[in-house]
Amino acid sequence: MKTTIDKLCQDHTLNAEEYRSLLLCQDTEANAYLQQKAQQTTLARFGNAVFIRGLIEISNRCRNNCLYCGIRKSNTMVSRYSLSRETILSCCREGYALGFRTFVLQGGEDVSQTDDWVTETVACIRQEFPDCAITLSLGEKSKEAYLRFFKAGANRYLLRHETFNEAHYATLHPSDMSREYRLQCLEWLKEIGYQTGTGIMVGSPGQKIEHLVEDLLFIEHFRPEMIGIGPFIPHVDTPFANEPSGSIDLTLKLISIFRLMHPSALIPSTTALASLSPNGREQGILAGANVVMPNLSPSSVRKKYSLYNHKAAFGSEAAEGLKLLEEQLNQIGYIVSRERGDYNYV
Ligand code: SAM
Repeated sequence: MKTTIDKLCQDHTLNAEEYRSLLLCQDTEANAYLQQKAQQTTLARFGNAVFIRGLIEISNRCRNNCLYCGIRKSNTMVSRYSLSRETILSCCREGYALGFRTFVLQGGEDVSQTDDWVTETVACIRQEFPDCAITLSLGEKSKEAYLRFFKAGANRYLLRHETFNEAHYATLHPSDMSREYRLQCLEWLKEIGYQTGTGIMVGSPGQKIEHLVEDLLFIEHFRPEMIGIGPFIPHVDTPFANEPSGSIDLTLKLISIFRLMHPSALIPSTTALASLSPNGREQGILAGANVVMPNLSPSSVRKKYSLYNHKAAFGSEAAEGLKLLEEQLNQIGYIVSRERGDYNYV
């Protein structure tokens, strides 16, 4: 297995069978070697600095009914909210004062936040914070909408493909959603010039090793600038309420594989990882992640943006807990970077 890991480290590519055996490998020494190589690769590219992004959850209203998601349309237990533009701007102000230079606007596909409204909101943030990056994570839109947001000043877009396998995609989503359209959106985003992020949930119901191999090959081919990998965690008010959570170890292993596949990628140590394990954030960093996204939403709405059970949004998961996060990262030999942290194309 060491030869396969060395090959991935050197060539940044493996074939399907090699990825499969790496994912299935249970050998503790080999898995530690994979992690060590990923960590060395991250340190060589980025030093020990971890980029921070201020996450603003702008709406929990959603027209979609993804079976895994706590804010799906059919969940009547959710108390719905949409942030106003002024509230979003005040989150940005608070974040800027704390040292954030990237704002991530994430939300459900809220029809009340029209393309015009998003465009104007992006333009206002761009005008007030010319030195900051604006990342959007607002789901599937038209190509024209993506273009308008980009022209208004958005720089990055996060849109996980969730699973590349068509049949698996169809078991996670209602029939009015299609894998084709999601992949089409990703193509548009890249074409327009966004730093584009995609990714998956690890351990989503019905996921097989073969599906993960397809995800690895897709991401290897697509070369996103950002790769978001987090464990699936059930939400009590969804059809997947009784499904088990994804594995932390497999999530960490995938982070390491993606780091070796794509050394320059911006890879977050996700909130889902931190929600499953008290030191999940640190484990993600040690596995090769180099980004964290503390929560910058108004504290009154954080509990309402409930994608899965026990989502971490306070303490070191919160923007105001940045000091605590810094201490935690210091303890494992890393520091917080207050730079914008764009993808480096050279
Ligand atoms: N609506 C936008 C979209 O579809 O990309 C952004 C919001 S969506 C809630 C953000 C991400 O949350 C999804 O891409 C999905 O991977 C993740 N997510 C949703 N439910 C989850 C769950 N139960 N466990 C882990 N991650 C989940």
